[in-house]
Amino acid sequence: MTVHTRLERILMEMEKAAMESGRRLADVKLMAVSKTHSYEEILELFACSQMLFGENRVQEVEEKFSLSRPEGMRLHLIGHLQSNKVKKIVPLVDGIDSVDSLKLAKRISSACLEMDTLMPILLQYNTSEEASKSGFEREDELFRALDEMATLQGIRIGGLMTIGPLSGGEKEIRSAFALLRRLQQQCIVRYPHLDFSTLSMGMSSDFPLAIREGATMVRVGTALFGERQYR
Ligand SMILES: *Cc1c(COP(=O)(O)O)cnc(C)c1O
Repeated sequence: MTVHTRLERILMEMEKAAMESGRRLADVKLMAVSKTHSYEEILELFACSQMLFGENRVQEVEEKFSLSRPEGMRLHLIGHLQSNKVKKIVPLVDGIDSVDSLKLAKRISSACLEMDTLMPILLQYNTSEEASKSGFEREDELFRALDEMATLQGIRIGGLMTIGPLSGGEKEIRSAFALLRRLQQQCIVRYPHLDFSTLSMGMSSDFPLAIREGATMVRVGTALFGERQYR
């Protein structure tokens, strides 16, 4: 199956799930997660009008995208970011969707001020209590961080991101996504001057469920590009 066919099928599934939750396809963005895949594969998908891409490692972003990136392509970091790599990644991406601590937000803020730029960010929340995942783990911890983040310049908060449980059935997965949705509602009430409109949740195996639970962005790798070959 060509990447174009895969893309069409995913968009159809997204549309179906969006309709089931009273929304339209245009209300849900597709991020193509291109980690481990080549620049050529990325360009092939970009040629099918897929604009938004996600990568999870700073080094891979540097290797693939520091020389060139086609006009109009947008790239976000979606993996854990170490503070000491902030200065490297800021000039290379259009968004950091995996901000998991106040310390990291402060680093991004000061790097952006230094470079005279503004970075859109999402806050990552661990909805499944799986220790292997990064992200804020408790509501009060998230709110305490947000109280201070709200005052930082150089970053623009746009919403929340989570990785659903990697094991467990539909019930567990849906309840993790529903948790992020409820958290979004609480954030909107607590911080009426901030933007929490993006809810990034759902991957190849669970994006239709995530859309039914309110996702406004899904992050799909395998279902678009095929299995990853880690070297
Ligand atoms: C790899 C990755 C994805 C995509 O996973 P697939 O199962 O291949 O669709 C989504 N989100 C994050 C944060 C990832 O690291």
